[in-house]
Amino acid sequence: MIRDIERVLIDQDRIAARVAEIAADLSRDLTAELAAEGVDEPEGHIVLLPIMTGALVFAADLIRRLPLKLSVELTAVSSYPGATVESRGASIRGDLPADLEGKHVVVIDDIIDSGQTLALVTAAIRDAGAASVRSVVLLDKRARRVVDIEADYKGFDVPDEFVVGYGLDYDGYYRNLPDIATLTPDAIRGARA
Ligand code: IMP
Ligand code: MG
Repeated sequence: MIRDIERVLIDQDRIAARVAEIAADLSRDLTAELAAEGVDEPEGHIVLLPIMTGALVFAADLIRRLPLKLSVELTAVSSYPGATVESRGASIRGDLPADLEGKHVVVIDDIIDSGQTLALVTAAIRDAGAASVRSVVLLDKRARRVVDIEADYKGFDVPDEFVVGYGLDYDGYYRNLPDIATLTPDAIRGARA
C-alpha cells in the first residue's frame, strides 16, 4: 500500500489538531443554539449523521471531542462507484434515519467536491422537518464545485487532485491510511486494469 502513495498532503498530527478545533466550534454553536431555544436538558435534540463510508474515520474522531448529549445515525450516498475518480452524480442509498423532525442535525462527510452529496443530504434533512441542519467536512475541493453550496465547518482546502486516506478511498482501498495523500499514477492505472 505504501508504494502506492505519491505524496502526503496533510499528516495525521495536523488532522488531529484541526479536528479538535472544529469540535470546539461545533459544540460552542450547538450549545448556543439550544440555549437560545431555552433547552436546558438537550436530551435527544442533537443527531450526528456521518455519510458512509468516507466519513467513518473523521466522524469517529470528531464525536469523541463533542462533550454533548447526542445520538449518531448513519446514511450512505453513492457517487464514485468502483475504480473511478469521477463523480457519477449522488443518490442516497436506502432511507434517511426516521425521526429527524425537530432535531438539530449535523451532517458529516469526508470531502465536499462537486457539492452534490451535501446538497442532496441537507435538502432531504430539511424536508424531514429538522430544526436545523449543519454540515461538517474535513476537506474542501472547491475547484470542482458544480452546486452552489459551502460546508458550515471544514478542516482544510485541498487542490484539484484525487486524495485518499483518513476514510477516503480509491476503489474501496486506502481508507485506513492515517494521513491524507495522493496516489501514484500507477496505483490508479493498476486498479483500472
Ligand atoms: P461530491 O458529491 O462531488 O461533493 O462528492 C462527495 C463525495 O465524493 C465524498 O463523500 C467522497 O466520498 C467522494 N470524493 C470526492 N472527491 C474525492 C477524492 O479526492 N478522494 C476520495 N473520494 C472523493
Ligand atoms: Mg463519500
